[in-house]
Amino acid sequence: MSENNSAIRPLVAGNWKMNGLQASTGELDAVISRLGDSDAGADVMICPPATLVASFAQAAGSNQLSIGAQDCHANVSGAHTGDLSAEMFADVGATAIIVGHSERRADHGEDDATVRAKAEAAYRAGLLAIICVGETEEERKGGKTLDVVGGQLRGSLPEGATSANTIIAYEPVWAIGTGLTPTTDDVAEVHAMVRAELEKLAPGEGGKMRILYGGSVKPANASELMAVANVDGALVGGASLKADDLMGIVAAYS
Ligand code: PEP
Repeated sequence: MSENNSAIRPLVAGNWKMNGLQASTGELDAVISRLGDSDAGADVMICPPATLVASFAQAAGSNQLSIGAQDCHANVSGAHTGDLSAEMFADVGATAIIVGHSERRADHGEDDATVRAKAEAAYRAGLLAIICVGETEEERKGGKTLDVVGGQLRGSLPEGATSANTIIAYEPVWAIGTGLTPTTDDVAEVHAMVRAELEKLAPGEGGKMRILYGGSVKPANASELMAVANVDGALVGGASLKADDLMGIVAAYS
């Protein structure tokens, strides 16, 4: 396996999913105080549920922590009961939006075209799009991983994607929330393919784009996974809910 000696600034992003009440602000405060003023060696982001984005963004202030959202509607505004636009998240201080998470693809039937439209909405609002791709267990067992992930990437990445407006998260569906992870060789193979595709799809930019690995990243396996070539950080679900665990993952970069 080739070593990760990339010059790309890594990102550890926490996806809180449908977890967190106002009382959870204590975890945010703990992350802020643990980060302090010294350089953690990686950027850190928390994507809380929509109800907490505004207050978290206010609390994060100018700290080296940014706040993102987990999804958005593709339109700016309109008759879309219950939905939230990228502009609304930008308005309250979010700097990024996760789009195409496998739970949205599965639970809400989001296809690549929908994901691409949401990424374009993030760009329109001046936000980073974190575009998620990943194969199911069946697809991996069938030897289709590279085809599936490559196809999702080509279908979901908007024209005009740059390293400043786009982050890719490779998240094998079978590794999310299961405690299972691919081998480092498997992660390296997929990330190398994603890098090569990005260089073709976004010439001059794809080589600089961050490619996160996501799926059961924990403090105990973070150093090993983050050392893989073309892994420029992590998208973390369960382990991002506790400041200690999130910071234990960030410590892979110290
Ligand atoms: C996720 O859902 O983005 C994720 C990576 O979850 P977990 O870390 O819990 O596997």
